Amino acid sequence: MRLTSDLAVIGGGDTGFNISAPLDSHMYLIDGGTDAAIVDAGMGGKYGQTDRILATIKADGVSHDRVSKLFLTHYHADHAGGSADFRSKLGVEVLASPLCAKTLEAGDEETISLPFAKKTGFYPADYVFEPCPATPALVEGATITVGNLQVTAFETNGHSAGHISLLVEGGEKTALISGDLVFWGGTIIAQNIHDCSIQEYAASTIKMSGVQFDAYLPGHFQISLENGKRHIDRAAEQFNKLMIPRNAL
Ligand SMILES: [Zn+2]
Repeated sequence: MRLTSDLAVIGGGDTGFNISAPLDSHMYLIDGGTDAAIVDAGMGGKYGQTDRILATIKADGVSHDRVSKLFLTHYHADHAGGSADFRSKLGVEVLASPLCAKTLEAGDEETISLPFAKKTGFYPADYVFEPCPATPALVEGATITVGNLQVTAFETNGHSAGHISLLVEGGEKTALISGDLVFWGGTIIAQNIHDCSIQEYAASTIKMSGVQFDAYLPGHFQISLENGKRHIDRAAEQFNKLMIPRNAL
């Protein structure tokens, strides 16, 4: 589903679009003309719907041979679990933060708090976090070219460690694809997991409120194609007052 001439939403489950598996985060396509990239991979495996996402990419007018990269915002299974599927079906290079890349390559379920998430019933007990080779290229300030667009990584830990947000420039709208940083209305998802840090959440949010963009494309819930910065600004305002923004869940 095209959002602008160069951005599309190609997947997402019960927290929004319901155009792929129920547990999937939002997934986006960055179409730079000669080259295209996917952002986030959904659950993958038997609980994912990777083939449906691939069909959506084609229906949006992007042939599979143009898709060369998969960017990951962070290692949680609803965002990164489908990486191996996309790599084997499209031959994409998977790009992630160093910690995310290492964790994904090892299929390290402990680090992504999957046993805890399975125990609570959030994920199916037999779900497997499929290992996948990844390039640890997404460090602060790294800019990767996708056709005629530039994608710049910002380290935005807080929701989890090794979390990045991606600023997409050079197209119809400047967009921030923010994974699980901040959601509509300035809410956050802080969880009782080992690598969630309120202090880092605050620092990341305040840092990103200093970056200019129009479209705000988070990993769950409502998106904004204009004036999207207001969501980050609202959360930053709370953090700046010593408060913790409301949880989105
Ligand atoms: Zn997450």
